[in-house]
Amino acid sequence: MHLGGSVPLYRLWEIAIERGIRGMGSGYEEFLNILKIQNNKVKDLDSYLEVYDKVELIQSGPHSVRESIIIALHRAYRTGGMVELGPGGEGGSPDALFSVGKLELRFNPLKRTGAVFLKGEHAGLYDVDRVIKEACSAIEDVEIGFKGQIEAGLIFCFGRDMTFEANMILAEKIEDWRKKNSKIIGVDLAGPESVNPLNKPTELANMKKIFKSVHRSIGRTIHVGETKHVDLKTFIATVQALEPQRVAHPIVAFHAFWNKKDDRGLKLLKERGIVCELCVKSNLLTRAVKDIKEYGRIIDTLDDFEIPYTFSTDAPSLQVTSLAHELILLLENDAATPEQVLRALKTADKASFLNGTSK
Ligand SMILES: [Zn+2]
Repeated sequence: MHLGGSVPLYRLWEIAIERGIRGMGSGYEEFLNILKIQNNKVKDLDSYLEVYDKVELIQSGPHSVRESIIIALHRAYRTGGMVELGPGGEGGSPDALFSVGKLELRFNPLKRTGAVFLKGEHAGLYDVDRVIKEACSAIEDVEIGFKGQIEAGLIFCFGRDMTFEANMILAEKIEDWRKKNSKIIGVDLAGPESVNPLNKPTELANMKKIFKSVHRSIGRTIHVGETKHVDLKTFIATVQALEPQRVAHPIVAFHAFWNKKDDRGLKLLKERGIVCELCVKSNLLTRAVKDIKEYGRIIDTLDDFEIPYTFSTDAPSLQVTSLAHELILLLENDAATPEQVLRALKTADKASFLNGTSK
């Protein structure tokens, strides 16, 4: 899951009040309304990501990052297995189906420095090294507190909406910190595909350089092909250039196969043994996937091509969802069979970038 979408809304509100952050609306109800990602508000990935700008500012600085990570991990442990959630993301059903015990948390440390990247500001108030240090120590402290009941790691996201220079600085920081701290388990590519679809050879070459400068001892996943801004040719070129072990919801590969009988994208995933990270509610909200029936078709297509897949929650707090809720959604709508869900959970364990021994 993304850190930006993992702190329950009522807790974000408390942090915003405590820190005196402006622009949070005229009260709690309006705040909920601004931040909750709902069906009628989201047109596409771009309008979905706008919400994150606000959350990233609330979560900026070493202190808030630490607090947010502690809340996010506890939230996952406590409510990840609940089918029902309250309006602010509070646990809503007393009986959880399970507890989340192994978890990958992803975010962009440069976007927690108080810099407003979409407005061209690449320097914020806070020091990125302090942000990374606090993030690592927050994970360690949670693991100690939970006495091994939860194991977590950090995936740092490069931004499609950041300049080459800013991403390169982040890569250098990741390299520095990776050697010092084992809680950094991977890198990702995230952000609006519309801003930088990587369809220009120079842009892709730059991103390749950024990824190449991070050591392969940590994992690699990328968000690619979630929207129409990335065509199949660009999808293939991006996977070939960045060499991920996993990709986040590569919707374009399914559409190309269904609509144009072009299976090159799916074949590439199969050949390279790349694991697909599927986020059901998120993909429905951004309209990347039309409906739950189409989701069933995606899962069956993956099985036909023998491509492994996992189910993730993306932004559980902003979408007011949980892992249990996502799985029940699939099962109750016959979009996945119990066998498919169980296989996906096993795949998640195997494909995790966490290298610990807990299962
Ligand atoms: Zn995601």
